[in-house]
Amino acid sequence: MAELFYENDADLALIQSKKVAIIGYGSQGHAHALNLKDSGVDVVVGLRAGSLSWKKAEEAGLAVTDVPSAVAQADVVMMLVPDQFQRHVYKDHVAPNLKDDAALFFAHGFNIRFNYIDPGAGHDVCMVAPKGPGHKVREQYVDGKGIPAIVAVEQDASGQAWELALSYAKAIGATRAGVIKTTFTEETETDLFGEQAVLCGGVSQLVQYGFETLVEAGYQPEIAYFEVLHELKLIVDLMNEGGITKQRWSCSDTAEFGDYVSGPRVIDEHVKENMKGVLADIQDGTFAKRFIADQDNGGQEFKALRAEGESHQIEKVGQELRKNFGWTQADGDYVDGSAA
Ligand code: NAD
Ligand code: MG
Ligand code: MG
Ligand code: MG
Ligand code: MG
Repeated sequence: MAELFYENDADLALIQSKKVAIIGYGSQGHAHALNLKDSGVDVVVGLRAGSLSWKKAEEAGLAVTDVPSAVAQADVVMMLVPDQFQRHVYKDHVAPNLKDDAALFFAHGFNIRFNYIDPGAGHDVCMVAPKGPGHKVREQYVDGKGIPAIVAVEQDASGQAWELALSYAKAIGATRAGVIKTTFTEETETDLFGEQAVLCGGVSQLVQYGFETLVEAGYQPEIAYFEVLHELKLIVDLMNEGGITKQRWSCSDTAEFGDYVSGPRVIDEHVKENMKGVLADIQDGTFAKRFIADQDNGGQEFKALRAEGESHQIEKVGQELRKNFGWTQADGDYVDGSAA
């Protein structure tokens, strides 16, 4: 049975007694920095000189400096730059400036699990990984709610690493929703699997195949877009509220019967075999090696795949239709049609 932790299990005073450096001010970085600050924690944001986020963070009332100076003053350093750059930032700017007893924090276990970062024995190494996008982590906190997080300790040098991690989780609002204890290995492998097999990879491919099937059969692309992409959110919201059962309850009996008889026909047992292959590649490091090798090569494969994805007909059709919606779709830094 998973171990769960809530507000009363965490002591906010612990993180309030530390200076926290947030390295990076992107999706997670801005949310952690602002939530910590609003929870009464002394925060400094560490950024590259010339970073576009510098002004944004200052305008939000945060102290901002370069990465080496931020690290040098910190008792807790949270690494929130993209996973593929963390080992460079760590080696060049974090490790040389890290206080002997400073704690190193991550929001995803990738670099520790696959040994791209190997912190010295004197440091607590902890993970506080919110189970939601950064913009939601901030939005929910401001609303008095929170995004659940999973928390792990890889290295407990101080003897207090777990309490510190839990205190940090409380300061970003996670214990309001619930924190689950995990390990870097479990978090990394399940996070990569979830996003590849279901959330990002699986769902995107499912939507594209559904759209292609309808359009190739002669139906209007705009109708296909609504049926297989737009309505997905409404269905997923129901699942999020009450599981698959609530989704089936809310749909018509026709839809529910079709779900039972056609779902397993579309997603058949081969899909599960494929998922096991994806999991094996994650566990043995094949996926990590491919991702990092491509990133070290300037992200050639990554950029080509992104361009191919963006050129799919469903993206063009959706972009036109969404222009006419009476509400704003743009959220955070993402502007429809051009990722900022
Ligand atoms: P991001 O891409 O949104 O932001 C990265 C930030 O780092 C940007 O401000 C960028 O300017 C800065 N940056 C990039 N290179 C840098 C460098 N060399 N030196 C200094 N700053 C640099 O990143 P993110 O999606 O917030 O991911 C950060 C971490 O959080 C990752 O470990 C990721 O796996 C984890 N995580 C992200 C999410 C999410 O919602 N996106 C959810 C859970 C965990
Ligand atoms: Mg992204
Ligand atoms: Mg992830
Ligand atoms: Mg329908
Ligand atoms: Mg029903």
